[in-house]
Amino acid sequence: MHRQSLVDYGKPLQATEAPTPSPQGSEVLLRVSHCGVCHSDIHLQDGYFDLGGGQKLDVRGNRPLPFTLGHEIAGTVEAAGPEAKGVTQGKFYAAYPWIGCGKCGLCARGDEHLCNAPRVLGVTVDGGYATHVLVPHPRYLMDVDGIAPAIASALMCSGLTGYGAVKKALPYLRVGPLLIVGLGGVGMMGLQFARALTDKPIFVADIDKTKREAALTLGAAEAFDPADGGVRKAIMKASGGGVGAAVDFAGSDKSFAFAHAPVAKGGAAIVVGLIGGSFTLPVPMFPLRALTVMGSYVGSTGEAAEMIELVKAGKIAPIPVEKRPLDQTSKSLDDLREGKIVGRVVITP
Ligand SMILES: [Zn+2]
Ligand SMILES: [Zn+2]
Repeated sequence: MHRQSLVDYGKPLQATEAPTPSPQGSEVLLRVSHCGVCHSDIHLQDGYFDLGGGQKLDVRGNRPLPFTLGHEIAGTVEAAGPEAKGVTQGKFYAAYPWIGCGKCGLCARGDEHLCNAPRVLGVTVDGGYATHVLVPHPRYLMDVDGIAPAIASALMCSGLTGYGAVKKALPYLRVGPLLIVGLGGVGMMGLQFARALTDKPIFVADIDKTKREAALTLGAAEAFDPADGGVRKAIMKASGGGVGAAVDFAGSDKSFAFAHAPVAKGGAAIVVGLIGGSFTLPVPMFPLRALTVMGSYVGSTGEAAEMIELVKAGKIAPIPVEKRPLDQTSKSLDDLREGKIVGRVVITP
């Protein structure tokens, strides 16, 4: 099999070859047709997340190098182990990548994406910037019939991240409207899922005017520029005293400072993005504002299935996708890092 692999942290990916694995037990071998390029691949390539104040979260772990990144995977079944039941040779699936150990309490309750001994495709085990990928069990193969293949792959990361976060916000919308901060790919997905899941008004905020306008055409009730001096007051006024929930899809010190400020008493601020930085709030403000602060990280297999149903029902506008060959993977990560990518890049090995 051909791969584009991480051979050293902070260095470009390189072409590597490995024997194509033959699936054992419940394993399924996918012939990768699409693998989305994701911002988190950049952090994995660097080997750390920026925690602000010069602090770094080392994410090198015990990953054996060369390692193949790529967690937004779709492809067709090429081979299956003897215990892999219910899979059809040649059928197209998206692979749920957020796989846990399958043995712990978190996995047993269906939260494999939160498992502390993960086997995440493209993060802890070899992923999809390759001609083939091994999936440990057919239950991670998502039926995406009727969804454009390039979009199906991205759904497992940006789609699921947007869906999982918006779902957490729903109970707080009795307090006030929803505010979505950061209108990149995930934020736009979140906006559309929110439109499908609630009749409450949805506010959006982004420094980019084009993105704000795009969000308004997708059904946002009001759009705000975080760089405007009076923006907090404007949101407080438009929401009638504060928003019920703010979802921060950027996840920087600046974006979170902006996002939590207009949350009404009894509301929630939900962090999703991983840009980095740190944040302080006087401790008494949590009880005085009855403020809930929470994080949201991708979503479970159950949420993935719910989300796919919404997409199949036509609730999500098609995302602009640019396809590139496998040998363009490293360049695509560089382009993403430099902000040169509009829409999404999907590698087609
Ligand atoms: Zn991703
Ligand atoms: Zn587990």
